[in-house]
Amino acid sequence: MTSSSDDTRAAILAYHKIGEPPHGTWQTWNYVPTETFLDHLSILAQDGWQVINLDRLVAGVVDDAPLPRRSAVLTFDDGYQSMLTVAEPCLAKFGHPSVLFVPTAFVGGSNQFDTGSEPEEPICTWDELRELQQRGCSVQSHSAAHRSFDELPFEQQVEELVTSKQAMEENLDHAIHSFSFPFGARGNNAEQIDAAFADAGYKTAFRYHGGVQRFPGAAAFDLRRVPVGPDTDLRRQLAKEPK
Ligand SMILES: [Zn+2]
Repeated sequence: MTSSSDDTRAAILAYHKIGEPPHGTWQTWNYVPTETFLDHLSILAQDGWQVINLDRLVAGVVDDAPLPRRSAVLTFDDGYQSMLTVAEPCLAKFGHPSVLFVPTAFVGGSNQFDTGSEPEEPICTWDELRELQQRGCSVQSHSAAHRSFDELPFEQQVEELVTSKQAMEENLDHAIHSFSFPFGARGNNAEQIDAAFADAGYKTAFRYHGGVQRFPGAAAFDLRRVPVGPDTDLRRQLAKEPK
């Protein structure tokens, strides 16, 4: 049964990296071991959360299209190459679609935006991003320069929205309509930034925190996600009453 009219919920899970850090580097909370990730996918299935693709979620947000009462969306930030080599094969076992938010200035490079706090790892090339798209991953914007919107003047925030969308649409064969905020930071000008997203042609934007998203009533440019790390009790997070 589908309905977005009474107590529909979307668990929009926010991951970074599946698998182990590169040899000789260090563990961080952003690495979820492969077995743990597979457990998460099993929990979603056992507990009745139906994994949907991004376009379906966006239609639910923007057009009030019916969503499964317990929807799940699997999102990944930063565009690491391990998305293709480690995460995608796990997703394929379940036939699940996914969403990857990539900062365009680092495509084909590495995560120089968080040097020192996260081990250096390759970010996907455009070819690899196209390959992911062919396997059911919706590649979307995580800005261009991966800078916190809390520290950028409005004009530069707009530039991040516009230039990243342009670069992606030049290199990828699909519409860019969604955005996740670097470091989860929305900045301090909510109304202005909402208008800027609409002007630039975006339909949805995602924060990093907030928990399970309730429908109806989702804010298109401030959608809540559930951050997931290696020690997350996913079942407990999904059972929490949405705010
Ligand atoms: Zn990020």
